[in-house]
Amino acid sequence: MAFKRLRSLFAAPIPHLSREDAMKVFARDHFRCQYCGLDGLHRFENWLILTVDHVHPHAKGGARAMTNLVTACQPCNLIKGHRVYKSFAEAKEFVLAKREEWREVFQNQVAAGMHKPSH
Ligand SMILES: [Zn+2]
Repeated sequence: MAFKRLRSLFAAPIPHLSREDAMKVFARDHFRCQYCGLDGLHRFENWLILTVDHVHPHAKGGARAMTNLVTACQPCNLIKGHRVYKSFAEAKEFVLAKREEWREVFQNQVAAGMHKPSH
């Protein structure tokens, strides 16, 4: 499921949005994820995972207008999903809280030595 969603993001990061329009969104947002602040111009790997997010999901009637579009890295876009939020601020709060949950999982795994070969 997660893989399928990820793959669809790769295949069509911004359905029905031209590359030109996507670049306008990125430029306005200075190529930074508007959720976590990831700097897309810092390194190629960051730039590569930038997507355009519909703050109010397009599938739920959200407009394709610039005012409803923000730059988001793929992880933040996936975490946000297709939920409907009252505002961008509420969506951001949700995404950042989830990231912190995952950070804790990550830190516990590192602390448990799960990155070391087990033999
Ligand atoms: Zn992000």
